[in-house]
Amino acid sequence: MTISSPVLARLKEAVGVKGFTEDPNEIAPHLVEWRSKYQGQTPLLLKPRTTEEVSAILAICNETATPIVPQGGNTGLVGGQIPFHGEVLLSLARLARIRRVDATDMSMIADAGVVLARVQEAASDAGCFFPLSLASEGSATIGGNLSTNAGGVNVLRYGSARALVLGVEVVLADGRVLDLLRTLRKDNTGYDLKQLFIGAEGTLGVITAAALRLFPKPTMHETAFLAVRDPAAAVALLHRLQNATGGLVSAFELISRQGLDFVLAHIPNTTSPLPAPSPWYVLTEVASAGELPLKDIVEKIIASAIEDGSVGDAVVASSDAQRRALWHLRESLSESQKFEGASIKHDIAVPVDRAPAFLAAGIAAVAKLVPGIRPVPFGHLGDGNIHFNFSVPKGGDNEAFLARWDEISHAVHDLVRDFGGSISAEHGLGVMKREEILRYKSETEMDVMRALKHTLDPKNILNPGKVV
Ligand SMILES: Cc1cc2nc3c(=O)[nH]c(=O)nc-3n(C[C@H](O)[C@H](O)[C@H](O)COP(=O)(O)OP(=O)(O)OC[C@H]3O[C@@H](n4cnc5c(N)ncnc54)[C@H](O)[C@@H]3O)c2cc1C
Repeated sequence: MTISSPVLARLKEAVGVKGFTEDPNEIAPHLVEWRSKYQGQTPLLLKPRTTEEVSAILAICNETATPIVPQGGNTGLVGGQIPFHGEVLLSLARLARIRRVDATDMSMIADAGVVLARVQEAASDAGCFFPLSLASEGSATIGGNLSTNAGGVNVLRYGSARALVLGVEVVLADGRVLDLLRTLRKDNTGYDLKQLFIGAEGTLGVITAAALRLFPKPTMHETAFLAVRDPAAAVALLHRLQNATGGLVSAFELISRQGLDFVLAHIPNTTSPLPAPSPWYVLTEVASAGELPLKDIVEKIIASAIEDGSVGDAVVASSDAQRRALWHLRESLSESQKFEGASIKHDIAVPVDRAPAFLAAGIAAVAKLVPGIRPVPFGHLGDGNIHFNFSVPKGGDNEAFLARWDEISHAVHDLVRDFGGSISAEHGLGVMKREEILRYKSETEMDVMRALKHTLDPKNILNPGKVV
């Protein structure tokens, strides 16, 4: 598509000289995503600094039916932030002000472009805690987090991004500003409009600020790495820990032996926390903001699990450095898979109690399709979200393997449906799963989604070709 020069000139004028670039070198990093899977193109990168500038941009785009793609930190994994067809690119990165932190109201108001790690720091500086935590938190923005309804490692205890939002400020497709920046805990005055924009991947409006919920800052952490007999033993352990701590388990991550082997082989300064190998591991963290005998409780549960054979061995971090080292293993799983050739990944969720049966059935089904395929499932078992990944068979041909992506994904996703699950637990649909979702959502559900899109963006200017 070509955007006319007069329209480009109006957009540039709306943000002033510092608010845009046409320099291909400056634009280049915005056009390719983290996995180098998608490559886009754009004639213009807009870099507004205020909500008013975003409003002026969208008013022009709407009037002239000019498509525009919002982008935060460009860490999305489904291609939602990439302008594939020469759309204007709208970076929210310069909307980077933390407007307010209120430790009494336990809330924060931050511009959409504030990087997640800065939100966490600002909460911590105020003696509070913002629990959203992802391996991409050093680059991902809060606007991107909300637009993808990001998950991460603390969903089990605190919920995904959706649960952490009290209000939003959104610029609608026609440029009007919808100010929903309230910090109320209770507000039943009609439809909860803010939730429409959370997880909408920039297709219904542009989020320019968010009112976030803060929590008491945990002062005690017990972090354990355990060799578990199988995923069913892991789920049983989760319930024991939740019951014994009154629901204080904040993270419960499953790691396969294959995944750990990849990390140990390719990521510098990593060592196996336990001497004897095991087919499965769990990294779990229990945290409390008050003084509780957490260590005793966790150690007692582990001792009883070792006694009944569901846990083979375990280590509880005895220092902050050891805790970080254990988390480093978990956070390096994605990265380490890159060194093992091509991979086919799925971001799925199933009910927690069915996760063990799903893992067994899914691994068997895919192994039947591609003998020698290397399963590397890992992730947030505590909330049923498994990154159900596979690496090319050892010595196998990468291209031939990737050519089977759809076949393998259909097999996995059909099984996910049979287990009552979701084919996108936390990364969204973007372009990657836009067609795939049609196999799994009912026509009625898709109709309602399309109707919402049409109502809020009748000219289809906002991130066209994504989600619906
Ligand atoms: C190493 C790594 C680890 C990751 N781990 C996790 C994880 O554990 N859990 C998880 O959920 N995700 C994870 N992700 C995915 C990614 O980090 C999240 O989706 C994140 O929320 C995206 O934020 P972003 O600012 O980078 O958004 P972008 O990638 O820039 O955009 C993502 C989507 O949101 C839209 N968008 C961005 N900003 C706005 C806005 N202000 N208004 C409207 N629409 C907007 C874009 O158009 C696009 O559709 C990971 C990614 C990487 C690279």
